Amino acid sequence: MSDALHGRATEQPLSQVADGVTAEGDPATWPGRILLVEDSDVVRAMVRQHLENEGYAVTVAENGEAALRAARAERPDVVLMNIEMPVLDGRQTLKQMKLDHELEDIPVIFLTGRTSREEMLAGLRMGAHDYLRKPFDPAELIARVSAALRVARLQQQLGKRNAELDSLSRTDVLTGLHNRRDGEEWLKGESARALRYRRPLSLVMIDIDFFKKINDRYGHARGDTVLREMSRRLAAVLRQGDIAARWGGEEFLVLLPDTDVDGAQRLGERVLQVMRSQPVVFDSTTNCSITVSLGVASGSGAEPDALLKRADDALYAAKGAGRDRLVLAVP
Ligand code: GH3
Ligand code: MG
Ligand code: MG
Repeated sequence: MSDALHGRATEQPLSQVADGVTAEGDPATWPGRILLVEDSDVVRAMVRQHLENEGYAVTVAENGEAALRAARAERPDVVLMNIEMPVLDGRQTLKQMKLDHELEDIPVIFLTGRTSREEMLAGLRMGAHDYLRKPFDPAELIARVSAALRVARLQQQLGKRNAELDSLSRTDVLTGLHNRRDGEEWLKGESARALRYRRPLSLVMIDIDFFKKINDRYGHARGDTVLREMSRRLAAVLRQGDIAARWGGEEFLVLLPDTDVDGAQRLGERVLQVMRSQPVVFDSTTNCSITVSLGVASGSGAEPDALLKRADDALYAAKGAGRDRLVLAVP
């Protein structure tokens, strides 16, 4: 092994990739998990030893089928896989991985005795990350695994960042509730579900009373504080599965899946109560009482736009009837 590890001057670029990972400091805290798929006991034990010497956590599988199970259970960072194996060979396994949303991005390095250029290109075209020809030397093995790990980490970071951006694009910045675009999507989705499973769907449209006066009296910044506090109180009375979205300036839509008109009315009363119960406190000397008006509509999910319109009309009626109350939409 020491022979193989020395005199690698010609392969400097690979070594640099490996060193690059070490320089980032990550492997110390997270060396990475390698799934080693190899049917030969001898090769498996040898490769495992090399990987463990480098500090990697190693999971082993003897064939492709076992590898897919292990990959789903353990989410390895890199897969190091023989091509020629019983039950499910490396190519078929790679194909399965590429069809699985959870596994498709894990870099796969093929271990193979085949040396033909065509074989290598075919594997890479299928989506293999890299190739390692047997017999390989340990330094090259480690260098290629390190390089694949680096790719895996970048991909994981990208995935995390994308999820964060997706969540941000659905969130109202001021209140942290769902934004209108996301609320509209939920309305579409929950309407379809209500229809399919023949479950009721209720909507509650909420609008702060005389909010313009609050802004005029306390200023826009404190108006924002009221919106945030009001949203916090609203979220606190909802059940899991209920969706609250900021629909407009001081207007909110709550979706109540699986909830009939009685349930929606009960929720509405709780909302009225929690808003009136105590003033919004700005500082030790200043606070402001708030009330809201609510329009409640229930339906089958058949016509979400019509349901929305009924909730809106009911809200308008609540305003007309004196505010700080809820009105049920006519069925
Ligand atoms: P009503 O009881 O009839 O609902 O009266 P209102 O004053 O609440 O209703 P109106 O629609 O006349 O005024 C809404 C106000 O909400 C006007 C607008 O300046 C304010 N507003 C809208 N978005 C924001 C926001 O993000 N922050 C603050 N501070 N004010 C906002
Ligand atoms: Mg208002
Ligand atoms: Mg309004």
